[in-house]
Formats: sequence, C-alpha cells, structure tokens
Amino acid sequence: MSVKEDLIAQGYKAYETDEIIVFWKPDLCQHATECVRGNNKVFDPSKRPWVDLTQAPAGEIAEIIDRCPSGALKYELK
Ligand code: SF4
Repeated sequence: MSVKEDLIAQGYKAYETDEIIVFWKPDLCQHATECVRGNNKVFDPSKRPWVDLTQAPAGEIAEIIDRCPSGALKYELK
C-alpha cells in the first residue's frame, strides 16, 4: 500500500500537484491555525477546497505543514 493509499484509508483527504501531495484529516485538526498563519493563500478556511497548492512552492508548503501541531496535515514530496 502506498503512503497515499494508507493515509486515505485512515480518513485523510488528499490534495495533489506534480510536486507534492498534501493530506488533511479534519477530525485531528485543532484549528491552531499554524497553517493559515504560514500562508493564508494556500490554507484558506473560507474557501472550498480550503487547500490551494498552486499558491506557493512545494518546499514552502512542506515547511508550513511541519509546524502543524496535531498531525492533521501531512505531505509527501514527489
Ligand atoms: S496547523 Fe494543523 S491543527 Fe492547525 S489549523 Fe492547520 S491543519 Fe489544523
């Protein structure tokens, strides 16, 4: 099973570009807003979908996700 398949089986939603896959599990999210403060164009809770991976380089998105305290956000660089 790939990382992607495994996380989706655990209840994560997946958002994907050619460079990165971002996973988010709503019921783990503590709404600490580290992600929103990191880049509110990539992570915008007022939008659906609320994750827009076209708004920043994959490396920057990965650094922001590293600050997520809950494990609600994860990523896999391609
Ligand atoms: S940083 Fe993590 S816990 Fe905080 S709002 Fe974003 S996804 Fe949720």
